[in-house]
Amino acid sequence: MLNYSPVHKWFKVPIQVALVGLLCTTNSLARDTSREYIIGTWDNPPIVFRDTSGELAGLGIDILKQVAAEHGWKLKFSHGAWPEKYDELQNGTIDLLVAIAFTPERNELFDYPEQTVINNWGVIYQTPDHDFTSIQDLQDQRIAMVTKIIHSKVFSETMERFNFPFEIVEAKDFEDVLKLLDAGKADAGIINRVVSIMKADRYHVKPTTIIFNPVQVRMAVPKGKNAELIKALDDYLITAKTDNSSAYYQSVHKWLKTQGQKPDYSWIIPVVTVFFIIILLAASYIYLVRREVKRRTAALAESENRFRQMADNINSVFWISSVDGKEMIYVSPAYEKIWGKSVDSLYQNPESWMYSMHPEDRELTQQDMADIVTSDNPAPVVREYRINRADGKECWIAERSYPVFDTSGKPYRIAGIAADITDRKLAELGLERSKAEFEAIFNAISDAVGYTDLDRNFVLVNPAMESNFGYKKNELIGKKTEIIYANKADFLQQGRRQFDRTSDIKTASYELRYVRKDGSTFIGETQGAKVYDHEGNTIGFIGVIRDVTQRKQVESELLQHRDHLEELVAERTAELSNLNRELEAFSYSVSHDLRAPLRAINGFSTLLSEEYQQKLDNDAMDYLNRIVKASVKMERLIDDLLQISRVSRADLNKENIDLSAMAEEILKTLHNEEPQRQVKWQVEKGLLAKGDRTLLHAMLQNLLDNAWKYTAKTPDAEIRFHRSTLNGTANLFCVEDNGIGFDPKYKDKIFQPFQRLHTDQEFEGTGIGLATVNRVIQRHAGEIWAESTVDEGSRFYFRL
Ligand code: ADP
Repeated sequence: MLNYSPVHKWFKVPIQVALVGLLCTTNSLARDTSREYIIGTWDNPPIVFRDTSGELAGLGIDILKQVAAEHGWKLKFSHGAWPEKYDELQNGTIDLLVAIAFTPERNELFDYPEQTVINNWGVIYQTPDHDFTSIQDLQDQRIAMVTKIIHSKVFSETMERFNFPFEIVEAKDFEDVLKLLDAGKADAGIINRVVSIMKADRYHVKPTTIIFNPVQVRMAVPKGKNAELIKALDDYLITAKTDNSSAYYQSVHKWLKTQGQKPDYSWIIPVVTVFFIIILLAASYIYLVRREVKRRTAALAESENRFRQMADNINSVFWISSVDGKEMIYVSPAYEKIWGKSVDSLYQNPESWMYSMHPEDRELTQQDMADIVTSDNPAPVVREYRINRADGKECWIAERSYPVFDTSGKPYRIAGIAADITDRKLAELGLERSKAEFEAIFNAISDAVGYTDLDRNFVLVNPAMESNFGYKKNELIGKKTEIIYANKADFLQQGRRQFDRTSDIKTASYELRYVRKDGSTFIGETQGAKVYDHEGNTIGFIGVIRDVTQRKQVESELLQHRDHLEELVAERTAELSNLNRELEAFSYSVSHDLRAPLRAINGFSTLLSEEYQQKLDNDAMDYLNRIVKASVKMERLIDDLLQISRVSRADLNKENIDLSAMAEEILKTLHNEEPQRQVKWQVEKGLLAKGDRTLLHAMLQNLLDNAWKYTAKTPDAEIRFHRSTLNGTANLFCVEDNGIGFDPKYKDKIFQPFQRLHTDQEFEGTGIGLATVNRVIQRHAGEIWAESTVDEGSRFYFRL
């Protein structure tokens, strides 16, 4: 736009004047009389036109003729219409066109002399009753104009640009414009400056101050041709314009009727200056606007980029939808992570995010969403709701939705940010639950519980604290715990010990005397503990007080009872053991003392039966035998009783005993006593035990005696003494036989004294043997039991 600037050219003028002036002097000397130029002419008064005699006349013709005369050139005129001549100039048919407005576009097509023939511009005239001063005043007016000329075009475009309506009154030529104004058929009219000078004063019209569209009327030659013609014209005009009396000026005055007046070019400087300033301002403005647009575009792109990066990377879902929520304009990728659904699915069905919502929350949310835009005062909505994700996980969402307003203040979008707050929500719910649990427990505890701050002021008390101390909650909260201590000294001492926040004591148990509101006191067993914050700082103390007055009483009573009971037991035990000892001494002496008369009975009965056999009849002999037999049994009974008595009384003298050797010896003796018996016996070697030799011998003797006795009727009698692994019991011994056996339901009974399962006719016995065995085992803190099957044999297991 600035490539061509008339301003530049104007500034160049002085330099060119100097240069051209110099050249003129030399050129005027060179005359080329052989040159003939074809000059294109058209009617454009006062530059060129046919006069009344049909001759070409005008300012342009004068200038050309003077230049031709100066250089000795011949001129041939070719007159015609403007478009025709314009074409001929373009294709080079003519050497020069005599009048043509200068425009930058045409300057590309033709070569122009620097010098103008005349300056021309649009002028607005008006009827005398108007007083228009600016084009704004021409709104809604009737404007007379020759519509096809450049000034009319420029005027109409300007009015349109400003949106000023007006009415066109068509005129044939500029003179017709003046006639129309004169006749009052138009309010204003467009003519050019030259016409105004030449003809305006002939009509009843007056000029306005509005002038516009300055044009330079110059001559032109085909592009790249006739440079000497251009130069000659410039040389001529530069020189002529400096001299008021030159042929040029005379010609100007003649044709423009401005005789005596020097052409007034003073307007050019301000117009050009204003034009230049306008162009400069416009250029600056455009530059600034472009720069601003560029800057804002870049800022916008940057902002959009930043927004995308942020939206794409935040963990929350950012979304923008249409007001009715039926079109999703943007949703950030976090939607896929939180909802577990694709972003595309939401674009396709913008309401599908709600399908995942917990049914209880859905209705409320829909209402909230509608309220954002339908309420009188659209405002952001913040809410929390649950969604069931595609993978079945329940999530908590916190969402803030807000309306986006257009420039008229109407909401035209809804935007929102939704964040996954499941962890926080679960923590909150957990906290609420913990709190509820804590309160329930705190309130349910039957002991008085109080929580205090660091200064030992009550912060929390449970109902038991109220009832146990007779205070209402508000009578305790904020009060020093001192009010429940019966002795101030205790309060101070506790303060120094447990409630010193710097001490290492974390918990403590103590008993103190407390005082109720009514002044009564009681002993309280107290559990105290410090309460810490997450950094380990002591923030308070908790105390649990149990009234132990009653328990203390019971305890002291129990203590008394226990002491008394122990005394009593000791007394009774002493009495009993004395009695026991006496009883055993008595039974021993009785048994012992019975032996002498029994021996007498036995001896004399034997004597009688042997010495008086001949003198006694059979009955007497039978009675006598019975007496002998009974006394023998009696003797055995006494022996057994003495044995059990001894076993019970004897002091234990423990040593390592080889039970195998002991059993072997007993069995051999039994065999020697009844060598006719065919009994196979088997004793496992190395069966050792620690115990009293006499007592263990009595035990083994009784068990093996029985085995020997109760196999008497068994053809292939067998007796075994061995270690048993029954039930995995260690050091378990077993005396086993394959004799007569017994009914197992009596297996416990047989260990009691005098309990026999067989009659004397079947097997003789006293029924004391196994009772003795049992006593020996008891004294060794062992165990014995029997297993048996009738006719198959018996097993006696014992452990020492
Ligand atoms: P007794 O002198 O009668 O043998 P015990 O006290 O030794 O008295 O035994 C009590 C009863 O246990 C016996 O009368 C007998 O019926 C039964 N008994 C003891 N040992 C055996 C055994 N090895 N086989 C079968 N029965 C037995």
